[in-house]
Amino acid sequence: MDQQTRGRQLSRFYEPLVLLHTLGSTRGEHTCAELSTRENVSQLPLKDLRRMFLSELAYTCDYDKGGDTVTAIGLNSTPQNYVFWVASNSCPRRKIVPFLESLLTNLRDISITATLVTLEGVNDIAAQCIRFATPRIKKYRSHLSPLLRKCHAYLAQTEREDGKFSCPVPLCSDSMRKLARLSIEPNYKSNEDAIHNTFGLVRHYIGRLGHHFRAAKALLSCASRLPELLHDFEVRSIPTPPKSASPPADGKTRLESIMVRMLPANSPDLNRYQQALAEMDDKYQLSRRFLDNYTDFSTRVHAEIQVLEQFHVGKLSFAAGDRYIACSKPACFCCLLYFRHHPGHFVEPASHRKIYLNWRPPDLDAECDIISQNRQRDVLNSMTCDIRKEALQQIEEKIPPQAWHPDSLTGVTEEAKTPLPTVGGSVVFDAFPVEIEEPTTITDFGSTLPLFDGADMVNFSIESSDSDHCDKQARLLKNSQPDPYDFEDDSDEEGGVLL
Ligand SMILES: [Zn+2]
Repeated sequence: MDQQTRGRQLSRFYEPLVLLHTLGSTRGEHTCAELSTRENVSQLPLKDLRRMFLSELAYTCDYDKGGDTVTAIGLNSTPQNYVFWVASNSCPRRKIVPFLESLLTNLRDISITATLVTLEGVNDIAAQCIRFATPRIKKYRSHLSPLLRKCHAYLAQTEREDGKFSCPVPLCSDSMRKLARLSIEPNYKSNEDAIHNTFGLVRHYIGRLGHHFRAAKALLSCASRLPELLHDFEVRSIPTPPKSASPPADGKTRLESIMVRMLPANSPDLNRYQQALAEMDDKYQLSRRFLDNYTDFSTRVHAEIQVLEQFHVGKLSFAAGDRYIACSKPACFCCLLYFRHHPGHFVEPASHRKIYLNWRPPDLDAECDIISQNRQRDVLNSMTCDIRKEALQQIEEKIPPQAWHPDSLTGVTEEAKTPLPTVGGSVVFDAFPVEIEEPTTITDFGSTLPLFDGADMVNFSIESSDSDHCDKQARLLKNSQPDPYDFEDDSDEEGGVLL
């Protein structure tokens, strides 16, 4: 496929994607959840056990915030041994691979010498993981410190006003329940600075910090039941594809023309959609936001997609035939759709359902065969179909953008959870992060897939924790972050580059 055709194919893919992102970058709640039976590792079936093991490994490899170190792992079974294939958004060879080799060796050694999971073993693994994740932990702390100060000030004021003061620190499970209650959105209309949001974030960051200990415990528990994986293994890295520039907007990149391309030719619905879009444009400045989103974003092949293609193209066998790819973060919206529509029938990942415009499909090299080209074209067509449907539905119903929620789940243990009303569970920040501009004609990548019958298609084809442990855990965390407030605050949401 020549460069020009590829560029055009990608342009037509990004058009509705940027529109949907502009209508709201978060496309719903997290799908699926962390294993609710995390505390009962000894009773998990082997398949779930292996998945949990890989998932926690991927988490521990992701040593920094901001998306560059997101890590995915696929477990390959060969006649000789097990191979942990590792991909990251930045090259995993120098840091992540040596760490993972060392961690797996350490897990094997500890699980061989101790028949039961001991606190000493957990702390040993946790210390190794925390040392490696120092950049991430420092950033969590830099986010957490000002939020804690704000919460303390609020609680102190409450005490002065009505005599009630219940400080949520020290941070044990009872306090986490209090934090959950304080995070509940009030019935009256509130804004993003409302105190319940701050309490919610405090709870979130504490949960993320504590997860290093839960991960260490889960890894050891899993390792003791999966000795064969660690008996003879190797870790191999997948070369990270370079970032590339996004397709530029052109004269046709306008809301009105994109809307034409999203509907079948001569659609009787065009006027209705355009009117609805115009109304939303007036209200939310969609056109300006859409064009803003189109400027200068670089794209990358996300880590889980790299692993997917490594297994699919290389025809690698998954351990026990379980076509599962672990990732340190829930998948973004595009990765979720890519897995869903890929013919390889990989296990659909958990997703935070956020659109990252830095997403791009795997690169096709010059020697790429026609089957691979057609396969990717068909996957992109199916993705585009879903993206358009979602955008059109939102425009028709004039639904305001979805609320923001963190990429990663808070991950508090079951005992620290408290029943929350569904309205209060998520943290709302930017009510409307991005926007739109102009519409056009349906885009198709030459697939046989009928997007909309009779649509005006552009055919690209081939051409077209416990409180008892708080002190020890606090010391471990403290040792990894010597200076209190000296870290640069990274405002990136995890998992992807901001536009
Ligand atoms: Zn992704």
